[in-house]
Amino acid sequence: MTTYTTELLSERHARARSTLRSVGLDALVVSHLPNVRYLTGFESTAGLVLISGDELVLLVDGRYLVAVDQQQAGMARCPGLTVRLVERTYEEALANLISERTGSIGFEAAHMTVATHARLAHAHGSSSPRLVPSEGMIESLRVVKDTAELAVLRDAARRLSDVAEAVLADLGAGRSEQEVARGIEAGLGRMGFAKPAFDTIVASGPGSALPHARAGDRRLAHGDLVVLDFGGVLDGYAVDLTRVASIGDPVSEARQLFDAVLAAHAAAVASVRPGEATVAVDAAARTVLEERGFGKNFVHGTGHGLGLEVHEGPRVGLPRPPLPVPADWVRVPEPERLEAGMVFTIEPGAYVPGFGGVRIEDDVLVTAEGLEILTTVGRDLRVC
Ligand code: ZN
Ligand code: ZN
Repeated sequence: MTTYTTELLSERHARARSTLRSVGLDALVVSHLPNVRYLTGFESTAGLVLISGDELVLLVDGRYLVAVDQQQAGMARCPGLTVRLVERTYEEALANLISERTGSIGFEAAHMTVATHARLAHAHGSSSPRLVPSEGMIESLRVVKDTAELAVLRDAARRLSDVAEAVLADLGAGRSEQEVARGIEAGLGRMGFAKPAFDTIVASGPGSALPHARAGDRRLAHGDLVVLDFGGVLDGYAVDLTRVASIGDPVSEARQLFDAVLAAHAAAVASVRPGEATVAVDAAARTVLEERGFGKNFVHGTGHGLGLEVHEGPRVGLPRPPLPVPADWVRVPEPERLEAGMVFTIEPGAYVPGFGGVRIEDDVLVTAEGLEILTTVGRDLRVC
């Protein structure tokens, strides 16, 4: 279990309150579970938090009361936390909690259903607080990791690298993609991961040209490129890694493709430093692939943030126009520049339909000096 200390949780609450003040909210209803966990340390499949200038209330139902007590006893107590029991429904408990308050209360627009919103608005009538749609309030805090999170992510990335080593050593013609995927998932379990971070990808031969292929019944054959993309969740935190193998010696086109992606990966890594624009990291990788004739074969962004979710900020990709924000919403936009403490993937790829594909993915931490690559397994083309 993640050892969030009382000090770290206090710091998070202070940062959250300062964000709320900066956008003019008196309180925020937090319904996205990774955000609930971030603020309270409480790990659960249900629960809601209300945070205001001087309160932190966790709503949980009876199934979780014992879990809250145990988690609170097993780790530093969450400072200032009040736990309230949900007797009937979360909606009703939340409506009650809100109706006791005044002012502007934000909710997470991406994580509250239209139905719940309508019932809350109906429940507390016209004299009560204003419900304000919000985006990025807690996500913007999570994007820079604190010391407890970095300790878990470093450890997780090392363990994931060990899983990769074992799997690559064991690869060979004749095994099916699904068998290899099962081997990866068994390795994740052995290394202490609670679960895979997403469906394990083992894509071989022509299938390796599909960036989101899963693992099928195809058997690895001589001349295949094999893309292995997998991740694990440790103490709530996700790490993510991709390596490529060749079954037998690669043909020259495969070698060219691999070398181009490896050079793109190196260029992206070399560009990482605090203050750099996220789009510049993407551009560094993209330029190399364009120069080598694979620009149109790079069909996704260069990377994504890692943390309590396997895809979170910062987004490292092509520039995109800012999302329109309705006038009555409050929003903290995604970061456009790197900061020390951000953790994200660097995963350029190139995919040639009918032939095969290559993606090389590592997890990196932005440091004051530049970066630290958290995943340690060698990234050369493995010939098996
Ligand atoms: Zn991945
Ligand atoms: Zn990834």
